[in-house]
Amino acid sequence: MEFLTGDNEGCSGCSAPQTSCNNCGACCTGGGPVLRTQDERLIKTGKLDLSQLYTQRAGELMFNKETMKMEPLVTDQIKIKVEAESLRCRFLDNENKCTVYSQRPFECRSFKCWDSREIEQVYSSDDPLCRKDIIGGIEGLWDLVLDHHQRCSYETLGELIREVDNNRDQDAMDKVCEMIAYDRSLRASLTESGKVNEATLDFLFGRPLTTTIVMFNYKVEKDGDTDKLVSVK
Ligand code: SF4
Ligand code: SF4
Repeated sequence: MEFLTGDNEGCSGCSAPQTSCNNCGACCTGGGPVLRTQDERLIKTGKLDLSQLYTQRAGELMFNKETMKMEPLVTDQIKIKVEAESLRCRFLDNENKCTVYSQRPFECRSFKCWDSREIEQVYSSDDPLCRKDIIGGIEGLWDLVLDHHQRCSYETLGELIREVDNNRDQDAMDKVCEMIAYDRSLRASLTESGKVNEATLDFLFGRPLTTTIVMFNYKVEKDGDTDKLVSVK
């Protein structure tokens, strides 16, 4: 969620200084909230379903507004899924109303576009909800998630991509493609066997590497049966 003006006078659609929310919905179209530990109860009580969430994994590159640089996430972040193109929160209806208003996440409740003090406290509290908080106790599944997180580590991926960028290193390129193939086949085998609901994959394993590789300025194209890395710089 982002402030729509730099001076805390309210959202861009409001002409007069604000003291309360006018439900314009503008703050629900900037990528959706990060869940905080306070939101764990929403999942535990079934108000939020894992199929409505996705994970940004530790190590994924995110734009840091303070340093104005892409930087790796220190911990996992769990977010509500958004529409791909518009980045509208999936709970925002056509009349710009939140369909889960009474059960909305902590960040949404703390956000006031006319006064940033409360949300800034939330942002600086460093207490995002993690996958471990939710599924860490499920033996077998958690081990699988950890194994995937290691084998598809964004740190390793970043190092390999640097080798590709700097030296056109074929071995590094092959390793990137192997990592992407493993990520893809794990998702396919879990859903085909019926062990995992396909809609929960992005929560369990983060978004597919075929999607997120773009953060390193590459995309994946099929070359016959094999994957090929293509620069999108
Ligand atoms: S808090 Fe969000 S929905 Fe309310 S007025 Fe501000 S931008 Fe609009
Ligand atoms: S959960 Fe509701 S308040 Fe929060 S971003 Fe989505 S639509 Fe907006």
